[in-house]
Amino acid sequence: MTAPLFHTLFLAALAVSLCLRLFLAQRQIAHVRAHRNAVPAAFASSIPLATHQHAADYTIAKMRLSMASSLFDALLLLVLTLGGGLQYLWQTSALAGLEALGQGLVFVALTTLLSALAGLPFTLISTFGIEAHYGFNKITPRLFMSDLLRSTLLSVLLGLPLLALVLWLMQGAGTLWWLWVWLVWAGFSLILLLVYPTFIAPLFNRFQPLDDKVLAARIDQLLSRTGFKSQGIFVMDGSRRSSHGNAYFTGFGAAKRIVFFDTLLGTLSHAEVEAVLAHELGHFKKKHVAKRMATTFALALGFLFILGQCLTNFWFYQGLGLSSQSHAIALVLFFMVMPLFTFPLTPLSSLLSRKHEYEADAFAAGETAASDLISALAKLYRDNASTLTPDPLYSAFYDSHPPAALRIAHLKGLPA
Ligand SMILES: [Zn+2]
Repeated sequence: MTAPLFHTLFLAALAVSLCLRLFLAQRQIAHVRAHRNAVPAAFASSIPLATHQHAADYTIAKMRLSMASSLFDALLLLVLTLGGGLQYLWQTSALAGLEALGQGLVFVALTTLLSALAGLPFTLISTFGIEAHYGFNKITPRLFMSDLLRSTLLSVLLGLPLLALVLWLMQGAGTLWWLWVWLVWAGFSLILLLVYPTFIAPLFNRFQPLDDKVLAARIDQLLSRTGFKSQGIFVMDGSRRSSHGNAYFTGFGAAKRIVFFDTLLGTLSHAEVEAVLAHELGHFKKKHVAKRMATTFALALGFLFILGQCLTNFWFYQGLGLSSQSHAIALVLFFMVMPLFTFPLTPLSSLLSRKHEYEADAFAAGETAASDLISALAKLYRDNASTLTPDPLYSAFYDSHPPAALRIAHLKGLPA
């Protein structure tokens, strides 16, 4: 590899991923618009035309913003790399007169802060523009600011020590540093998963034990029938921020918790809540969660190994517009540029995820009535204004969940 060749590869990957993003978004917009004036037959009885059109407009507004954000991100990446932005930040971080590790920390912190600030306008437009316009946003500017402060503080408290440890290992742990960094990162991730439900999530939301005794008894039966152990069922005040509804598990091992958004419990019947929960249980029973974690850990090891190969080669830095070379620069460059090369592989992970969704649906249909999951899904699509008519290519590329119509047809086709 040479610097000019890597430079060309980088520009080609940037162009390909940007064009692909814009092309798919454009297709999605065109497809949703073309199907705006008719509710698909399977939903004709449960979703009125006005609701369908509202969902179409909402989807199109979100796609437009994502196109603008893709363009902006590509531009920012160019400014930071070939435009000399990172080189400038590296020289600025040297002004403090710290040794290598300290300068590296300052540099990564500056870069992260700058990227976060650059992305903020898009979050603001999404939250207070689109989500508010379509009636989903419930967050006040005051709560938004407090969330921002809390999450920044949390990133600093958790991220800086981890980063310092990683840079220290990169400097001093010899040729196998990437293996050590991987071990540290994996341990850190596992601890984070373990403490997330009890220490981190409550910083942002209130969690109360489910107080609907009838529903709780029903859920307990499902849990014991399927042999599932958790540390309780909680209701989260999701309605403080958004009217979108959801249900999820957090933690792992014995620390698992079942969490329902209050918005979800407000719209679903008991039977539907049970069906949604059975679907989530399906992900555990079919080992999807464990498989996903194993994949993430394996990929991280692979990426760190590749980073190890780039780290000592000048073509990696020069090809991306930098004349200085350091561990911190390599780390930042790698995590900025790597997504360009992995983006075309997105459909693979989407495909796997959709396969898991079908499996979890089949599990739910075996434990509860398929008709309950079907009616719950129709309500969730309706209330979240998720499009019922995605572009097939867009959906195949990105969607972690099968389109509503296919999912319901699959549920109807399962043996009762
Ligand atoms: Zn699922």
